[in-house]
Amino acid sequence: MILLVHLLFGTAIGSAVNNVWLAIILAFISHYLLDLLPHIEYNIQNIEQKQWHKALPDILRVILDFCLGILLIFILSKNNPIIYICAFFALLPDGLTVFNTLFPNKILEPLQKFHIEKIHFLKENPSTSSGQEKISTFWRISTQVVVIIISIVLFRI
Ligand SMILES: [Zn+2]
Repeated sequence: MILLVHLLFGTAIGSAVNNVWLAIILAFISHYLLDLLPHIEYNIQNIEQKQWHKALPDILRVILDFCLGILLIFILSKNNPIIYICAFFALLPDGLTVFNTLFPNKILEPLQKFHIEKIHFLKENPSTSSGQEKISTFWRISTQVVVIIISIVLFRI
């Protein structure tokens, strides 16, 4: 899922759960649960393939996605510092994936495999035939809209 959705849902959990440690753990786990849903993501192929001369639009999309997420958290939440710690943990799996893509290492490799191959199994991927191509773009966007709506509701609890 896009960063904005992960940020909103992870921090919405953080604002709804009173126990700080539980909130952080749930924010982290929420990343994997959301990635299980059928979803669509924008293209960051140039970053993944380290095509740096073509990567600027990809990098700008990631920055815009992240900044919009933080802005929405700022507007919607009570801006308790714990919210921003939950935001960090809600994005950590993607952060570790990017880190491992740029600096491959044996410690993060299994985590990346789990994240990309096991969790993202419904993501559009022409190299697999798990039936995800039968799920329309409409539904793969709708899942993310529904998560945003649930997050807004959680912020109001
Ligand atoms: Zn992810």
